[in-house]
Amino acid sequence: MNNTGQKHVKGVRIRSLNITMFVLSLILFIAVFWTTLRVAQDYNETVQATENYIAWEKSAHQIHVASDYLTEEARLYTQTLNIEHALNYLDELFASQSREKALEFISSRDIKPEFRANLEKAIEYSNALTHKEIYAIRLVAEGLGQDMAAMPGVVQTTSLSAADQALSPEDKFKHARDLMFNSDYAKAKKKIVDALSRFLSQTLTETRQEQIAQTQQLGNMLSAQRIALIGLFLLNAVTFMMIIVLIVRPLQIYAKCIKDDKMFELVGAYEFKHLALTYNDIFAVKEHHDRMLRHKAEHDPLTGLLNRAAFDSLKQLLANEPNPVGLLLVDVDKFKDINDSYGHIMGDKTLCRVAWLLQHAFRTDDFCIRLGGDEFAVIVKGNPPGLEEIIMAKITSINENLKNPAEGLPPTSLSVGVAFSNGGFTDDLYSHADKALYRVKEAGRCGCAFYRAEEDDKQS
Ligand code: GH3
Ligand code: MG
Repeated sequence: MNNTGQKHVKGVRIRSLNITMFVLSLILFIAVFWTTLRVAQDYNETVQATENYIAWEKSAHQIHVASDYLTEEARLYTQTLNIEHALNYLDELFASQSREKALEFISSRDIKPEFRANLEKAIEYSNALTHKEIYAIRLVAEGLGQDMAAMPGVVQTTSLSAADQALSPEDKFKHARDLMFNSDYAKAKKKIVDALSRFLSQTLTETRQEQIAQTQQLGNMLSAQRIALIGLFLLNAVTFMMIIVLIVRPLQIYAKCIKDDKMFELVGAYEFKHLALTYNDIFAVKEHHDRMLRHKAEHDPLTGLLNRAAFDSLKQLLANEPNPVGLLLVDVDKFKDINDSYGHIMGDKTLCRVAWLLQHAFRTDDFCIRLGGDEFAVIVKGNPPGLEEIIMAKITSINENLKNPAEGLPPTSLSVGVAFSNGGFTDDLYSHADKALYRVKEAGRCGCAFYRAEEDDKQS
């Protein structure tokens, strides 16, 4: 029974497919996840680059503004001679220190050394100018005759040249203004601005390049993410199709096969085909058993003909048959004597011989039945002209055969009563055939008679 193992089944294994789909979807999921992280990272880096540029620009601006403020206050002092401006100047230079703070702030923001160098240079140039500015402040302070002890240390420690010392207050003011507005001063100021411009240009180029590179990388990552997402979708679609083709459809087909009591078709995944083969093996065995049981239930074990149960089923089956039905009731003559004289075994052999002769005399679509004991029946469908003569000839031939038996069987004969209905197996068909049979027995056996209502009904 178990021959499924020997049969080679081909097909996609759900287990392998599952593992493959799982691995593929895991790879695609990791790809999507990774690209998402990279996109976020690239975006943050782009934002960071922009923020860095803003901070650098702000610091450069702060240094520029502080440098200009120092120039402005020093110049105002030389022009207005108002001590407030000198104090503002000195306060910015030593207390506020905006330029140094801006440099410090920039240093904390990861800046390239060559960029920082330009910024340091700008402060260096600015610091170089402070000597001139303090000297101009000292000139004005002395011209005003201010108490030097009240001035900050750096002013106190700045000493004027002997020639400047000798100048009148007016000339001191003039010289101070000249120092603050001459072309040397303007050139030195320009050097500060140039250094700052170089710094801004460098940082802008660097930021632009970084942004372009990062935008390109961001675009690449987004494309990779789109591809991975399309891959995931396709994988889903394939999985869906596979489930339909390999699982759902086979299950529908198998359910139909079970309903129709048929063997399974070999469809779907490997596991389903294997299941189908196993089912088909069991189905074949069950079919065989069913056939045997049906045969046993419907056939007589001695002669192999249909039995009385089958006769009863046929009666019901043919009850609604539109065409005429003929019933032959057959009884072995003096059968009891055969049993008594030759024994039961010979009796059984005689019954088998009668069965064989009946089966071979009639057509395959007629029904030959052993009703029990030595009683047989033959059911024929239709009643075409000439059928009675044919039946009569068949019975005569069988009787000839039985009266001159071969293989040591005892001689015997059959009495046969025949009746026909006009349509279907009617309730009185059996009694009509039985009446005809009775007539044959009465007439001395070994013969065949057909039911004639006027004759047979009168007798009963
Ligand atoms: P008749 O001509 O009037 O029919 O006489 P008969 O002796 O044939 O009488 P009947 O038909 O009543 O006898 C049937 C006998 O068949 C009775 C029974 O012992 C015998 N018999 C029934 N079944 C079997 C069987 O399976 N094998 C054998 N050998 N004999 C059976
Ligand atoms: Mg008999």
